[in-house]
Amino acid sequence: MYEWLNALSRGDFDRQQLLAALGARGPAQEALFGLARSLRDQNFPHRSVETRSVVEISNFCSRGCLYCAIGCLPQSEHFTLTPDEFVEIVGLLHARGRKHILLQSGENNSEEWVENVGVSVEKALQVYPDLDFIINLGVLTPTQCLRLRRAGISRAILKFETSNARLYADMKPGDQLDVRLQAIRDLVAAGFGTGSGNIVGLPGQTLDDLAGDLTLLHTLPLTMASSTVFIPGRGSALQDASAGELHTTLNYMALMRIMNPKVLIPTTSSLEKAGPGGQLLGLMAGANTVTIHDGTPRELKEKYPIYSKDRFMPSEEHIRRIVLDAGLVMEEF
Ligand code: SAM
Repeated sequence: MYEWLNALSRGDFDRQQLLAALGARGPAQEALFGLARSLRDQNFPHRSVETRSVVEISNFCSRGCLYCAIGCLPQSEHFTLTPDEFVEIVGLLHARGRKHILLQSGENNSEEWVENVGVSVEKALQVYPDLDFIINLGVLTPTQCLRLRRAGISRAILKFETSNARLYADMKPGDQLDVRLQAIRDLVAAGFGTGSGNIVGLPGQTLDDLAGDLTLLHTLPLTMASSTVFIPGRGSALQDASAGELHTTLNYMALMRIMNPKVLIPTTSSLEKAGPGGQLLGLMAGANTVTIHDGTPRELKEKYPIYSKDRFMPSEEHIRRIVLDAGLVMEEF
């Protein structure tokens, strides 16, 4: 047994243990994943994987994050679903048996937009009261959080992206880490089950930064945690940068599980983009949530270039296969 792994299993999450685990490869990495899986399976004994359908509800974004191409889209490419269009899409997902709908968009905290989201979800819940809605819309004001909670949305995700305030300001010009952290606390205060997380492999990020991300995540009162591998998105300011490292991201995910055993952790499509088989490895590293990108109309998907225009979009068949291969079960739907 590795000394750092012993320490982690005793709940010693000091920086030196985190750094050793982030660098683990081969048998050491297998042992790390094994600990993460055993904690997941103890805390989720039914072994079921939460399945979310993503609806990209708008691609308008008021930010210019260097890693993301959405903020660079010309106005002629902008779309926002109307409440009726949203309800129609949700109806199709409901007919497929989906239970959890994840609404994603660029950042836009105009009152009109937030009201549009609130009304969209209220209308959808009138027709499909059994559905569970999750939002990932960027920073909202405390009043906007309460408005959306009142609409019946149960959970919200707002990633802090990096715990290094200087790197954050470099990656998100005009934005500040403190503001984002307060917005995460506002979501919690509004009563949302809340998720947060980071991006692994941002240009200029160090292993020490990742250890800091894990420590920050551990202090937040979260029900969900996530990590994506940095993918240089075509059309973004960082399109020529190198992608993040798949295996460091997987180790980071295993550490998220070990430090926060009860949270839901997704295995994201960015892992598959970083290396074939990456999403299955995410489940082997302790994840227990999958997202299916089947909620955005085909003609609009091109206009939501989050990692790149040719980003990997996992099909339901692919998701079913990796869940089975990981020895887990799809949540009944
Ligand atoms: N715009 C909202 C926000 O900033 O919170 C939510 C939607 S955003 C598209 C969802 C997440 O995608 C971000 O929080 C970020 O972590 C991730 N993301 C965006 N571009 C990425 C990239 N190039 N590589 C990896 N993750 C990325």
